[in-house]
Parts: sequence; structure tokens; C-alpha cells
Amino acid sequence: MQRITVLGATGSIGVSTLDVVARHPGRYAVYALSAHSRVEELAAQCVQFRPARAVVGTAAAADRLAALLRAAGVKTEVEWGEQALCSIASAPEVDSVMAAIVGAAGLAPTLAAARAGKKILLANKEALVMSGQLFMDAVHESGAVLLPIDSEHNAIFQSMPQFGGRVPAVREQAAGVAKILLTASGGPFLTRDVATLDAVTPEQACKHPNWSMGRKISVDSATMMNKGLEVIEAHWLFGAPADQIEVVIHPQSVIHSMVSYVDGSVLAQLGNPDMRTPIAHALAYPERIASGVAQLDLTQIATLQFEKPDFTRFPCLALAFDALRAGGTAPALLNAANEVAVQAFLDRKIGFRQIDRVIAQVVDTLPHGDAHSIDAVLAQDAAARAAAEACIAGLAA
Ligand code: NDP
Ligand code: MG
Repeated sequence: MQRITVLGATGSIGVSTLDVVARHPGRYAVYALSAHSRVEELAAQCVQFRPARAVVGTAAAADRLAALLRAAGVKTEVEWGEQALCSIASAPEVDSVMAAIVGAAGLAPTLAAARAGKKILLANKEALVMSGQLFMDAVHESGAVLLPIDSEHNAIFQSMPQFGGRVPAVREQAAGVAKILLTASGGPFLTRDVATLDAVTPEQACKHPNWSMGRKISVDSATMMNKGLEVIEAHWLFGAPADQIEVVIHPQSVIHSMVSYVDGSVLAQLGNPDMRTPIAHALAYPERIASGVAQLDLTQIATLQFEKPDFTRFPCLALAFDALRAGGTAPALLNAANEVAVQAFLDRKIGFRQIDRVIAQVVDTLPHGDAHSIDAVLAQDAAARAAAEACIAGLAA
């Protein structure tokens, strides 16, 4: 029996994870679940999965959850706040942690799981983008097992059998790899007239052609900052320098990424675009379990297309490559500015094309330093958030 904590259980990835877990009742037991604000959804999950512990964002949310669970006769212990999140991610009772909180809020608990040597199923790419080397060091020092959930990185992992089940230490470059080919759907605005992008709404940006996801990552997909963050994620997971990572637009989202080897071989992982496939892969690794995803029928799809990305249409992609090359805390600045700008767009305070302008201004004006400690990273994260808020206020005025 594998005992699991799901951080971000009420989100898109959290719900898909519990869907896979529910298909294999003898194999997985849920130790703890977390949510932030969706208390009713979390209560229903607690009724179904009977975790020992549940964590929410505030004392008020904890009171509401406790009342709901009392009424349902469920004995789950209710806690709230970051310390509690770190505790359910690192408790000795836990084998695996699904890290599926969105954004920088996931850093502390994901790092706690890494330091405690857990099997980490990493969806929360922002945590790795922010803390890079520090996070990978924590993984290697504790002997934690890091399995990528992001569909592209899960595909790359499956296409790198030479690592025998572990992501490599960052200095250890994947032998024989010529290029990592990170596929991207291009999002909802791949072919839209660039001149009209200023006027797009949050609803249009969140309407992804192939994937159903949380709102933040959906906007990131529309700007292609999601792919930019994934370039940085691939750098840390697979020890690949920026020049070895190539983004390929593949609108059908059937090939989830590829690895091109020096002998001319290209290995790829294919599947229907449903996150339950990489989730099931990581949950059961190195075994295989059913995920509920339909088998891929290539004759139905018939055509697979590929093209180079247009960096002028998608300036966020260029900003991310620049941040990776700059190193240090530059990716943390990029990530924080992006989180603030995306929220401002979702709140209709700025237009779609102002997202990249806010990020560029923050990254260009704030000095980036050495990412020598988590405190240094968090200080830069806070500074970037303040600078982004100021920039947004200036745009609105
Ligand atoms: P959602 O927005 O659907 O869910 C986010 C989860 O995090 C919810 O459970 C939410 O709680 C919780 N949460 C939000 N803010 C906080 C906070 N401040 N503190 C603690 N918990 C918080 O996001 P997704 O599931 O789409 O994405 C989760 C992560 O997975 C992201 O990092 C994303 O980049 C990554 N990912 C997602 C993919 C997808 O297909 N969705 C694909 C690849 C990666 P509540 O809802 O209760 O407020
Ligand atoms: Mg992805």
C-alpha cells in the first residue's frame, strides 16, 4: 500500500490524481489532502478518501471544513497554513507526495517533501523554476525520487531509459542526447491575428484547444510562458543547457515531447492529451497501471503537424530563455512577475499583451543575484511581486 499526500487536491491535477487513485483501491491509501479555498470540494474528497489529515488556507476555512466533516461523521484532522502543508508533505507516514499547488505557494511544502526524501510527483513547475539548483540539491541529498508530472517532462523521462528511474543530477548531462524537443500546442492564439491579441478576454485565453487545466496555467499556455517555464524545468530535471532544449509547436498535443540522440534516433512518448496518463505513470513507476484514458488511435488523428515557434508572437518564450541563460535568481523574478501579471489579466486590470511587458520590465529593472539560499530566492520573489504590482498600477493610471 502506497500512502499518498495530495497537495492541491481540489485543482485540475489534484482531481485527476484522485481519479486515478480511486481506480486502484488496494494499491493506494490517501494520507492527507490539501486545498486553499474550495472547502466544499475538499470535504467531499475527505468523505470519499478518508485521509488522516486535511489542510486548508485559513483558520476560517478550517472551521468550515471541520464543521462539514463533523456533520458527515468523518474523523479527518483539520489544519491550516504553510507549516501544516509542510508537515503533511514530510510526515513519516507518507510515501509519495503529489505536488500540485499552483505557483510559488507550492515551494515550501514541495521542498519539505524533497528534504524528507519522499517520492515526489512534481506538477508544481513554478517551485522548481524558482529554486532550481537548491531544489535539486535537496532531492539528491535526501535520496528523494523525483518524477515529473508535467506531460512534456514525463514524456522526456520516459524517453530517457538510460537514467534507470531517476532524474539525473544536474551536472550529470544525459549521455548521447543531442536535443530535448519540447512540444507545445501553441495554445488558443497560435494562429490569431497578433494585432487583435490586445483585446482577448480571460475567458478566451483560458479556452485551451486540447487540455482542460487551472486558470493560471491556461493563461500561461496562451502566452507560451508555460513553455518557457517548462524549458527551465527541463534544464533542472535533465541537466540540459538552454541550447540543448528546442521548442517545437505541435498543435495536436499527441506527441508529448521527444529526445533526439547523437546517433539519429528520436524517442518520443505519445498519448491522448489527458493528465491522468503521466499521473498514473508516476504513481505506479516503474510498473504500469490503468489510468482511465482511452487508447490512442492514430488513424483517427491521421495528421501530426510541427512548426517552429514565433518568438515575436510569443515574447514570453524569449523572456524565459533569457532568464535561464542569465541564471541565479532571474528565473525566480520571471516567475513571480508572471504570477502577478497573469492574476492582473484574470482580474481584467491589464490586457493580454501587457503580461509580457510587465514581466520584461521587472526582469530588466530588478538586479538579479545569486540563488544561494531559499531566503535569497524568496526575497527576490517578494521584490519582483512588488515591482510587478507597481508596474501594473502605472499601466492602469
Ligand atoms: P488549479 O488552479 O486547478 O489548482 C490549484 C490547486 O492549488 C488547488 O487545489 C488550489 O486550492 C491550490 N492552491 C491555490 N493557491 C494556493 C495557495 N496560495 N496555497 C495553497 N494551495 C493553493 O491548478 P492546476 O491543477 O491546473 O495546476 C497545478 C500545478 O500543476 C501548477 O503548478 C501547474 O503549472 C501544474 N500543471 C498543471 C497541468 C494541468 O493540466 N492542469 C499540467 C502540467 C502542470 P483551491 O482550489 O481550494 O483554492
Ligand atoms: Mg506541460
